[in-house]
Amino acid sequence: MNKYSLLFLVFVATFIFVELMLQQQVENYAVYENNEKLNDILINQKALHTYVEEMQKPVIYKLKQEKKLYSEFFDPNVLSFTYIARNIHQIENKLLQDANKTQKYYKLASTNPRNALNKANEFEKELIKKFNASDLQEFKEMIEEGGQKFLYYAKPVGRNKESCMRCHSAADIAPQELLKIYGDKKGFNEHIGDIRAIISIKIPLQKELENAKTYYNIITAIIVVSLLFIYVIIVFLMKQLDVKQNKLEDLVNVDELTKCYNRRSFEFDLNNQIEQVKRTKTELSLISFDIDYFKAINDDYGHLVGDTVLINLCKIVQLRNRKYDRLYRVGGEEFMIVLPNTTLENALLIAERIRMDVETYKIRDRVVTISLGACQHKQEDDFTKLYKKVDAALYKAKNNGRNRVESCQEEILTFKK
Ligand code: GH3
Ligand code: MG
Ligand code: MG
Repeated sequence: MNKYSLLFLVFVATFIFVELMLQQQVENYAVYENNEKLNDILINQKALHTYVEEMQKPVIYKLKQEKKLYSEFFDPNVLSFTYIARNIHQIENKLLQDANKTQKYYKLASTNPRNALNKANEFEKELIKKFNASDLQEFKEMIEEGGQKFLYYAKPVGRNKESCMRCHSAADIAPQELLKIYGDKKGFNEHIGDIRAIISIKIPLQKELENAKTYYNIITAIIVVSLLFIYVIIVFLMKQLDVKQNKLEDLVNVDELTKCYNRRSFEFDLNNQIEQVKRTKTELSLISFDIDYFKAINDDYGHLVGDTVLINLCKIVQLRNRKYDRLYRVGGEEFMIVLPNTTLENALLIAERIRMDVETYKIRDRVVTISLGACQHKQEDDFTKLYKKVDAALYKAKNNGRNRVESCQEEILTFKK
């Protein structure tokens, strides 16, 4: 993976992280907004409960005491807070529906209800168990149901008191009229201190989430554009740096006159190749060549013409080079070619072709020729040994008459001399 892909991945990861944070903020906002609604509902309930318990019920009990009302009188419409609260809630939901507004989920959920409508669902049953078992005062969490998000709240109605026991302990002491309405099975066998029911409230967050969606989309777009902008600028600066670095590398590694690699680069590359060959047990060959009677060209036509010969010679040799072969100017008019994955046989063939190519080049009617030596790296060869061997082959070519190729191993020669 190159550095640009890596940078891109970092930006994608940043985007995902920021988006997740943003989504969290949107949910926090929706919960915060609905907390207010929740508090209003709880205050309403508390007011209603206080009214029923402290104002309404005492009037009925007083009427019973004064015998103005018979003692077996029971009507949930005036004596059951749960019943009253549920009926008010049903009326409210009907009105909300008529006004095309979101209905409220409000329930006094119980595991032992008189009315089936108050029966706790599995989730509520678990909560009632937890409230009974621990000191948990309330439960508030964002939940998801049917793909929609809600703020869910639950709180115990309050533990059973002495005054609750006439209607909720044993059926035989309960008011007759209560038994007539609900029978003698449901809502009994409760104990003082038990949590009989919980207030269970569910507020949909949909409206707030949808409202926030517009801002969310705008912020997302700004983030995408900003990140892309920053990415493009960074890539642009990195590319500029790359260009500068390449130029610097060229200055260090490329010969200014001929534009082929220089001696410094040759030493570095050949050492690397030798290490690699030792590791991978592949072949590596080296060709060394030198222009024949170059001094005479300089002397006869001048130094500038000599320079042109050097430049053109490099071009000719580079045309013959395969993809991974590299040409180096290691001295004034001495050159090396490093040939990875190449046997001596092939190196000799390549050297001979180069020799023939150069032979076709003329400067001012004078044929330019080169002498070449070719060697294959042997297991025991280090940089200096290999260099010396190939140099010896080159000088053999010079001594044997020039414009020829000599091999490090006399017995291996793949072309006719
Ligand atoms: P041979 O190799 O065949 O034995 O003969 P030669 O004449 O090429 O031998 P020698 O190595 O003595 O000469 C090399 C010459 O290359 C000497 C030097 O002036 C010339 N030379 C070295 N560097 C440059 C350069 O950058 N430009 C030019 N024009 N000439 C250079
Ligand atoms: Mg020479
Ligand atoms: Mg020379």
